[in-house]
Amino acid sequence: MNDAVVISSSPRLVEGLKALSRLAALVLILGGGIVLAGWWFDIPALKSVSATYSSMKANAALGFVLSGLALWLAQFEVGAEAEAFKRNLVRLICWLVVLLGALTLAEYFFQWDLGIDQLLCREAPGAVDTLSPGRMAANSAVCFCLVGLAILCLDLEDKNGRRPAQYLIMAVGFIVLLSLVGYLFHVEAFYDLSKYSKMALHTVALFAVSFFAVLFARPDRGLMALVTSESGAGESLRRLLTVGCFGLLLLALLSELGVWLDYYDEAFRSSLFVVGAIIYVLVLLWLNATQLYRRDVEHLQLDAALVAARDEAQSSSHLKELLLDILRHDLMSPAGVIKSSAAIVMMKEPDEAARKEFLRLIVTSADHIIDLIENAKIYARLENAESLPRERADLNEVLHQVADELNVVLLEHKIRLELLPQGERPALVNQMVRDVFANLLSNAIKYSPDGARVEVNILGTERSWLIYVKDWGVGIADADKPTLFTRFKRVEKQGVKGTGLGLAIVKRIVELHAGRVWIENNPEGGSIFYVEIPKE
Ligand code: ADP
Repeated sequence: MNDAVVISSSPRLVEGLKALSRLAALVLILGGGIVLAGWWFDIPALKSVSATYSSMKANAALGFVLSGLALWLAQFEVGAEAEAFKRNLVRLICWLVVLLGALTLAEYFFQWDLGIDQLLCREAPGAVDTLSPGRMAANSAVCFCLVGLAILCLDLEDKNGRRPAQYLIMAVGFIVLLSLVGYLFHVEAFYDLSKYSKMALHTVALFAVSFFAVLFARPDRGLMALVTSESGAGESLRRLLTVGCFGLLLLALLSELGVWLDYYDEAFRSSLFVVGAIIYVLVLLWLNATQLYRRDVEHLQLDAALVAARDEAQSSSHLKELLLDILRHDLMSPAGVIKSSAAIVMMKEPDEAARKEFLRLIVTSADHIIDLIENAKIYARLENAESLPRERADLNEVLHQVADELNVVLLEHKIRLELLPQGERPALVNQMVRDVFANLLSNAIKYSPDGARVEVNILGTERSWLIYVKDWGVGIADADKPTLFTRFKRVEKQGVKGTGLGLAIVKRIVELHAGRVWIENNPEGGSIFYVEIPKE
């Protein structure tokens, strides 16, 4: 069992059981007291349940009074200064109970007469089911030893949380059960272990009370912790113990009723009880399993809901991150175009035509920024999606638009951009395809020396367009190629700024168009980026 996780006991149940235990202790005192009074004032009705049943002996009655007192005291809150006194008093009373049982047993075992049986009250010889007058039954004596010891070690616990008191009182419970069933089915051997004196019926009842009083005194400890735990196991155990035990006893009583009413004989009663008990237990187990099954289903549903909520939270934070990255990275180039175009207009005072051209660039770049934000949102959301919304577009026109936007940078670095495709290159694409061109072209420019050449073409095959961007720049080492399309995989190139996101975006967009992207070395130095995009 995992000690780190403990399902605690239900506080209401614990309090309720403790109260019951205190009540049971009072019942013991009262029950024993009444029988003692019966002996002192010689009232037969108080000594035994009927003239044909054996009486509860005065010593047994005293045993119950003492055990009740010890149990009640053990649960009675006193101030710190009186605590030690109370504990010693409880111990003393418990030892008296044990002594009472042990001396009686010794009398049976060694056939002594220690005079204790007639000490409190005298019983005339010849009482019902009593061989030694005034002596309690041997099984009662055993029970008192067990009850006394159980109360004595009520709070004793080993390192695994086991409590000896609970095992001792369980033995009492076993003897009580035997006696009860014995009385019910007239099996004398069950309540008449000594062959000398029988355990009286109300003695059996008071031992049953002692049994519950001890178990309920510490309801959240040892074995009882599981019974009172707020777990599914605790709940089903409580159901099985209460409904099971009481149901079976009720069944026994009912089957016995038929014998009393002379409907059937004892053999029939026994068969009836066995069959009834089997059916009852099976139905009980079935209902219990159904309940547990329902609980398991609820837990599974809860787990699934939790996993879904966690995934949702993770994916939404992942999407946010992704969105931010895309915006940060891709906004840079159109923002750069706007900035440099505006700077040229302001500083160089160009002629009217050039001024218009720069203003047009500013507007298209601003449009691009807006488009980008829109598309970035879609892209971020569709990162795990199968496809992007598409519309018919001319790839050659897209390429020229992108090239126009890069004009300023091209001029700045004196790069000669050669756009080879002639005529339309129609395809069913998402507008984000312009980011493929933008990233590949700006990379080609970024990673080429000033004055270099960049060549772009869009070649047609039967079903797709093959775009290539060829530069005569710094080139890419073979070792770096496999990871280049992974987000944030940058290969440091001196003086060139970047976020390492561009090629990842290219790859993702191309993938979402069911295309592919790869790099080859330019045999004349530099690199060639290939993108294959289906026409439809
Ligand atoms: P960024 O350019 O922002 O660093 P990219 O994802 O666009 O991010 O590129 C990833 C890496 O690939 C770059 O850091 C660079 O080292 C390399 N790279 C991309 N394009 C080229 C190119 N045309 N020539 C040489 N190296 C390139």
